[in-house]
Amino acid sequence: MSEPNVMSCPADSPPPGYRMLEFLGGSFHLVPESTCRGCYMNATEQRLPEILTPVFDDGIITVRQDAEWAVPGFMVVAVRPHIGALDEMGLPLVDRIGRVTHYVRRAMRERLGLAAVQMYQEEKLERPHFHLWMLPLWPDAMASHGINPRIYESNIARYLTLFSLAEQEAAIRRCTEEVRAYLAGIPDLYAGTVL
Ligand SMILES: [Zn+2]
Repeated sequence: MSEPNVMSCPADSPPPGYRMLEFLGGSFHLVPESTCRGCYMNATEQRLPEILTPVFDDGIITVRQDAEWAVPGFMVVAVRPHIGALDEMGLPLVDRIGRVTHYVRRAMRERLGLAAVQMYQEEKLERPHFHLWMLPLWPDAMASHGINPRIYESNIARYLTLFSLAEQEAAIRRCTEEVRAYLAGIPDLYAGTVL
């Protein structure tokens, strides 16, 4: 990808040919319209908020807090190469994504106490870049706001807005540290890195 014309900017009306990428903590980056968000994050990691530092990174697969929503423990499993969908990868990488996801889910259950996590893999028509959302269903937040996560009657989009970084920053850091420590303790999780 070409080097994006990066700037931090609070404006919400990008000039023609550009779009604004928003990141947790309220930083906005102005990039050319053709810029892939996943590739942009990989290319400009040092300019992203520190809270988005991966909890797992083998050079190809990354796991980190979601870059937009402040739900504590909201993990995203992604690949660094610009690959759009699961069927466009080699099977060894598909296997590794399954293995890493398995252990992230275990960390979410065993360390974060999550009985239910929703996983989404949204393929986009434009600039698809594979990533798997692992969204924690925090029972108290759901109960107090009447959130129904079932796919055919879902108001999960509202659930996402219930969490602000100002209120959740400590919880997000606690969750990322728990998942990071859990994954670091899995023997050979870094072995067999393949594209
Ligand atoms: Zn990409």
